[in-house]
Amino acid sequence: MNTIPPFDLSDQYKLIGEEINQAVLGVLASGRYIGGAIVETFEQQLADYVGVSECVACNSGTDALYLALRALKIGAGDEVITTPFTFVATGETASAVGATPVFVDIDPQTFNLDLRQIEAAITPRTKAIIPVHLFGQPVDMTRLMAIAHAHRLTVIEDCAQATGAEWAGQKVGSIGQIGCFSFYPTKNLGACGDGGAVTTNDPKIAATLRMLRDHGRRSGYYHEEFGVNSRLDAIQAAILRIKLRYLDGWNDQRRVIADRYHQLLKSIPSVVIPQETPNGRSVWNQYTVRIVEDSSQSESGKLLRDRVRTQLQSKGVTSMVYYPLPLHLQPIYKSLGYQPGQLPVSDRAAHEVLSLPMFPELSIEQQDQVVYGLKDCLG
Ligand SMILES: *Cc1c(COP(=O)(O)O)cnc(C)c1O
Repeated sequence: MNTIPPFDLSDQYKLIGEEINQAVLGVLASGRYIGGAIVETFEQQLADYVGVSECVACNSGTDALYLALRALKIGAGDEVITTPFTFVATGETASAVGATPVFVDIDPQTFNLDLRQIEAAITPRTKAIIPVHLFGQPVDMTRLMAIAHAHRLTVIEDCAQATGAEWAGQKVGSIGQIGCFSFYPTKNLGACGDGGAVTTNDPKIAATLRMLRDHGRRSGYYHEEFGVNSRLDAIQAAILRIKLRYLDGWNDQRRVIADRYHQLLKSIPSVVIPQETPNGRSVWNQYTVRIVEDSSQSESGKLLRDRVRTQLQSKGVTSMVYYPLPLHLQPIYKSLGYQPGQLPVSDRAAHEVLSLPMFPELSIEQQDQVVYGLKDCLG
């Protein structure tokens, strides 16, 4: 029996490998490996795709967030409101610029920031909100922007898992002042290595981002600010240009797979399927269910979710847990003093979530194996 991985990039390479090889060889022959026309063309294409005027490519999604915070001059003494139920980079970068992340609990249905709780977390020090479009599902940006506007806060969208997702017909990354993207290989638009980008409609912010990503210089060897080295390689840009053309098709395939998971899983007791919000169009970076248990049934302290995951593995299905420990309870944030139970929806999600295999090339047979496996475990 072949084990079904959580994601598989080899089929995608079989499909477009020849195009990728040609593009990479072209860059190798050009002798121009960092920056240059290919990177600039990719930036313009991604800006057009997202629906903004400016795109600044960089080395990773983490750097995109860091550069965005730096460009907005957010730093020591400032607070940044965000979700604890995310990849560490969202909080880590706020801390890296010297700001303090303020974690607000999530909505149980979407796993995204609970917008009803944002205003209570705003203080005179609050400078920005970083919503994360988790698992590909967009945050209610209409409501979030209204809150931000009323309190004069900047919004940095963490779009790392949501390239192509839309809220009310607008692509994520074009709604807040800044959008941050990751091209980590398993993201919807993935490079063959690390990569990231920042989008904005503000040319001044874009100019600052370009300066910061290149050692704080506008040209030559004159350094206006402490910057970093965070440029996108020409090889990655060449690969991303090709993959961008396929992105909508791949996202549509993910949608078909998600719809089929919904149908097959909706009536299994103990499984809560993810739901799309009415104005949102998810790109299904992950298909994440909740494995819920009656606390009275809980066996010897081991979570039902973890038992299911182990059993699924023995049936040849690798599932993932994003995320087992929310940021507010991580060792790095001990000094912030959050307690278990303080953000109960996040704590609970961490105990219940299970991400099933999800990638555009997942076959019907593989999907059936996942579903039968899951039914077996819970039967
Ligand atoms: C992947 C990810 C990042 C970081 O992106 P990298 O390219 O891996 O640095 C940031 N935020 C979220 C929500 C992510 O999933």
